[in-house]
Amino acid sequence: MSNRTFTMIKPDATAKGNTGAILSMINAAGFRIVAMKMTKLSKEKAGEFYAVHAARPFYGELVEFMSSGPITAAILEKDNAVEDFRKLIGATNPAEAAEGTIRKLYAASIGENAVHGSDSNENAAIEGDFFFSKLEQF
Ligand code: GDP
Repeated sequence: MSNRTFTMIKPDATAKGNTGAILSMINAAGFRIVAMKMTKLSKEKAGEFYAVHAARPFYGELVEFMSSGPITAAILEKDNAVEDFRKLIGATNPAEAAEGTIRKLYAASIGENAVHGSDSNENAAIEGDFFFSKLEQF
């Protein structure tokens, strides 16, 4: 599934009312929404989603933050989706994000950085299946 990626609009962007503006940028960049839901991660689920970062010093903060409020999870489709979406969101640290990217526009810090984007085709499939059954993927 090299034409799909997975995203979350994170709790900071939800709380600031930026969900619609971010979805609009995603649509304008040519991504098709395959699946989408607004939900809230428990600490346990956030810990599971980010298990790959369990040894990192910021893991506790990351799990707290990602379970602190509602998110919007979505699967997106476009040619070259993973790479093109990483370009659209910009660098992890908004101070290093390119002009016009979602994180440059809407992220406050390296932790509260507005959006998630999968880093590989393999992880895109795993992450999409974490939130959506096959019946919910259109
Ligand atoms: P991404 O792929 O650009 O999201 O970045 P990473 O995979 O490196 O990190 C995953 C997420 O962990 C980031 O999006 C941030 O929300 C968070 N994160 C990364 N580095 C830090 C940090 O130094 N401090 C905190 N609090 N969170 C971080």
